Amino acid sequence: LKKACQVPSSLGQQIIAQRAASTGEVRRVTLIPGDGIGPEISQSVQQIFEAAGAPIAWDPVDVTPVKGRDGVFRIPSRCIELMHQNKVGLKGPLETPIGKGHRSLNLAVRKEFNLYANVRPCRSLEGHKTLYDNVDVVTIRENTEGEYSGIEHEIVNGVVQSIKLITETASRNVASFAFEYARQNGRKCVTAVHKANIMRMSDGLFLSICREQAALYPDIKFKEAYLDTVCLNMVQDPSQYDVLVMPNLYGDILSDLCAGLVGGLGVTPSGNIGKDAAVFESVHGTAPDIAGQDKANPTALLLSAVMMLRYMNLTDHARRIEKAVFDAIADGRCKTGDLGGSGTCSTFTQDVCNRVKDL
Ligand code: NAD
Repeated sequence: LKKACQVPSSLGQQIIAQRAASTGEVRRVTLIPGDGIGPEISQSVQQIFEAAGAPIAWDPVDVTPVKGRDGVFRIPSRCIELMHQNKVGLKGPLETPIGKGHRSLNLAVRKEFNLYANVRPCRSLEGHKTLYDNVDVVTIRENTEGEYSGIEHEIVNGVVQSIKLITETASRNVASFAFEYARQNGRKCVTAVHKANIMRMSDGLFLSICREQAALYPDIKFKEAYLDTVCLNMVQDPSQYDVLVMPNLYGDILSDLCAGLVGGLGVTPSGNIGKDAAVFESVHGTAPDIAGQDKANPTALLLSAVMMLRYMNLTDHARRIEKAVFDAIADGRCKTGDLGGSGTCSTFTQDVCNRVKDL
């Protein structure tokens, strides 16, 4: 039985969910369809949500950077305004921005809403053969600092310095999130992944905060492991891992390794979670080689949308849509080309729509 992925909700989301459940109110979500295959897979999600009767109204927003009077490209303020209103977003892939001085949307939204935890569940899919059929791991990565703090400078000609920033606050936020996630999802063990033997101060601080949080969750087993050891073990026997928590750069790399074990980025969902807001997104890029050809696999964005529903406490809709997606892949008749099938984005979507109506 596949484990569900219940992303711990903020208190605000729990209150909104209770009110919506009692009034039958529709919940609004900011939708960033994205570039390349983004619009096709976003449309697939919208169709399947409609077929499932999910009480979601979408607020689509164009995030093409606009040039300000100062010549700097920025994300349109409408996107940030809508995120402030809705607090929940679903995002397709975006092309790497062209234009100097402009921060990417991911960074802009992560900073604005302090989305400190990036969550990526990676599970083997029935009907899609990979090296192992028993992968079920969740990587939880600190999302705001570490090597990606963006603090870089040239000391003298030919010598540059990039600062790895680790703070107690961000480490505590993500460590506590990881244990809460494990508890809410019936997971047994959290492993802190680090290189504190080399990065004594930065990873040392991260690790000490993980130990502090572990003491607050005696029901969850806690392990510590070096990043290199985890990489080795993960490709040899992924079944030994459950939930993994780590600093930003390590998570960026290890989560792609885990995605590779279950069939690639086309089937891997993710969520960026903060205290008051969350943005869920497919992990893959815009796939320009197949854009506009009805070949895209919408599974990653769909499973991201399922995570989003669970975060919004719409668990029954999440369960039905998730089951319909897994059943469609296991059946295989409408599987898309990336999974070795001959289906298209449209036929796969229709198959999931037909299944979800009967669940
Ligand atoms: P990519 O993920 O777009 O494509 C890699 C390969 O995987 C391609 O062969 C593509 O056809 C295939 N693929 C990806 N998603 C698929 C799907 N859903 N269904 C079927 N096949 C799929 O990576 P890339 O080509 O390196 O990047 C293209 C663009 O996307 C770049 O501009 C890059 O910066 C951007 N990108 C954006 C994000 C994001 O917004 N989160 C992430 C990664 C890359």
